[in-house]
Amino acid sequence: MDIRAVVVGGGYAGLVVARVLAGRCTEVTVVEQDTPGPDPGHRRGTPQSRHPHALLARGAQILEELFPGLQDELTGRGAPVSDFGRFPMLYPTGWTPRVPTGLVLQTFSRPLLEACIRRRVLEDPAVTPLGGTRVTGLALDARRERVTGVRTERHGTLRADLVVIATGRHSRLPAWLAEAGLPAPEVRRVDGRLSYVSRLYKRDTSADFTWQASLQATLAPGTDRGGAVVAIEDGRWLVCLLGADGRTAPTDPDGFAAYAAALANPYVHQVTGTAEPLGPAHRYAGLGNEWHRYDRLRPWPAGLVVLGDALCSLNPLYGHGMTVAAQQAVLLGRTLDGTTALPRVCRRFQRRAGRTLTLPWLMAASLDLGWRPGRTPLPAALAGRLLHRLLRRIPDDPDLYRRFLDVQHLTASPATLLGPALRPARTRRARTGGTTA
Ligand SMILES: Cc1cc2nc3c(=O)[nH]c(=O)nc-3n(C[C@H](O)[C@H](O)[C@H](O)COP(=O)(O)OP(=O)(O)OC[C@H]3O[C@@H](n4cnc5c(N)ncnc54)[C@H](O)[C@@H]3O)c2cc1C
Repeated sequence: MDIRAVVVGGGYAGLVVARVLAGRCTEVTVVEQDTPGPDPGHRRGTPQSRHPHALLARGAQILEELFPGLQDELTGRGAPVSDFGRFPMLYPTGWTPRVPTGLVLQTFSRPLLEACIRRRVLEDPAVTPLGGTRVTGLALDARRERVTGVRTERHGTLRADLVVIATGRHSRLPAWLAEAGLPAPEVRRVDGRLSYVSRLYKRDTSADFTWQASLQATLAPGTDRGGAVVAIEDGRWLVCLLGADGRTAPTDPDGFAAYAAALANPYVHQVTGTAEPLGPAHRYAGLGNEWHRYDRLRPWPAGLVVLGDALCSLNPLYGHGMTVAAQQAVLLGRTLDGTTALPRVCRRFQRRAGRTLTLPWLMAASLDLGWRPGRTPLPAALAGRLLHRLLRRIPDDPDLYRRFLDVQHLTASPATLLGPALRPARTRRARTGGTTA
């Protein structure tokens, strides 16, 4: 199609959507405020890159379709792979069963994933990167019915038929719409006041570890401390200490080690107590769920779409962010294939993108609402009750665990859980906090 596209934000979602658009638009310019180099590295615009990023099974499938050979490339760069059933996971209801699940998970740092994707996206001659360029607003036609491009600090106005906003959790799009005299979106917020504090450690790759990652989850209403440890490339562990409901782990070395040692999950402490730290700890707080309902906004300017965290940022503990963004990128491609009329494409995409969020939002928000005293909306209350019931049964029921993982990894419909979840439990073991897996 003869479309000039500008993607605002060259982070994860911006790169994935640029890949999808490259086969469908004549030009795709990716405008990024930072200046990312070819090698994996941290940058100001993506402070989350210092923290663990699990790519769920559905997200891994989509990325492999868009970037064939990506998993092999990550393996070649040292990213470990194993069955998810080998990961010891501790919920307040007990340890998950250590059984084969058929779900294979690869673990790597967020900078490595982004660097591998960026290299492949930029190899496409249809894609032009514009780094070191901050977008400051939208350009619209005189009637404010159509987006005609974006305003930038360094390059004036960049003209475009299609503007894709992928500016992440702290997106300025609501302010840009307001400056253009357009209404602001309704925002749904559920904030479990979660924080991550993460630190890298050296991993002895010759040692025989039977596990690749381990988690102790926080869960409303009572469990406000948790942690995770993940093996990543270059012989490193990434340890993350979780705090919910306003609690946060210390960043100083002694405080960090003491917080890890006090967790019920011994795997986290096994690393922090023995391995050599590689640099300081970094904190990321303010990890609430926030969904901007652009799908409901009227009028909606033609030529504008929003996706990734700029549309909805989720509690990262459930690991849905990157997978949902990949689903949305693919959806935009399909919507473009279905019609040539851009105004219709944009509105239709925005409506459909809302549907990719229904399940992840329900899972995250229904559990996180438990931190907030007061009335919970009925659908969230029912979903929350169901999830708590599943979590109570999973430690004793490997089959249920497998089904739960398929739903959480967005590879199966939640309907597959309804039967087992609603059936009365035949056996129920007394549980006083779980035993080590
Ligand atoms: C602590 C933490 C842990 C997480 N863990 C997981 C996980 O385990 N699994 C998972 O799937 N997801 C996880 N996520 C979520 C994941 O990081 C996001 O879903 C994902 O990064 C979304 O990509 P994005 O491109 O929308 O946003 P980002 O990756 O944040 O990219 C936004 C980009 O836009 C650029 N930008 C912003 N404003 C402008 C502007 N005005 N002009 C030009 N450029 C601009 C920024 O510099 C940045 O590069 C986690 C998030 C956090 C915070």
